[in-house]
Amino acid sequence: MEKGLNTVLLGPPGSGKGVQAELLKKKFNFKVISVGEILRIEVRKKSNIGKRIEKVIDSGRLIDSKMAVAIVKKHVGKRKNNLLFDGFPREVYEAKMLDKFIKVSHVFVMKVPEELIIKRLSSRYECYCGMTYNLTSKKPRHDLMCDKCGRKLYRREDDKPGLIRKRINIYKRETLPVVLHYKKNSKTKVIGINGAREIRDVFNDVKKVLE
Ligand code: AMP
Repeated sequence: MEKGLNTVLLGPPGSGKGVQAELLKKKFNFKVISVGEILRIEVRKKSNIGKRIEKVIDSGRLIDSKMAVAIVKKHVGKRKNNLLFDGFPREVYEAKMLDKFIKVSHVFVMKVPEELIIKRLSSRYECYCGMTYNLTSKKPRHDLMCDKCGRKLYRREDDKPGLIRKRINIYKRETLPVVLHYKKNSKTKVIGINGAREIRDVFNDVKKVLE
């Protein structure tokens, strides 16, 4: 892979961004910035930020974009290359702010039909250690226990059926304009990916582009 690549994974909730980010990290040694995961850790720690954002996240809304940008800046640090953003930027404002300190070379836009999103998120389970499972595609070995740390798995509050539709609508309204923002920039490649396939097939498509 060329040096100096910074990649953004966009897509509706349940489109497989997190799973792909894990695989791409292993393959290309990316530093992954997953704002959702960083926020969930803050909530678990009951930090000041965590207490402020818990209700917002649990209700399926986006957190304040200035706060999201500040968190990303802090996690990027001085690094300028080989960054992979999972679920960021989610609003045009966030994309414009990111442009000020990082050059984004590739944007992958994962596409998945709504019915499949609902099916996937309705069978998603998480572990406190960060592992994610799905009872249809990535089952834990032992009944709702984490393969890695053995703890009991839990369901995300925002994966409740009513909230899934709300999050899809927020994606359409707030995040799809981000795709247009990147399409206008000739230095950024925007690649649509069919995310409704097996994890490995989706990964192979993304990998081919980055190689
Ligand atoms: P995710 O794990 O990507 O589904 O994110 C979970 C939740 O974290 C979202 O529903 C938002 O409340 C919040 N969040 C994650 N990324 C962002 C972002 N870039 N801007 C604002 N809120 C975000």
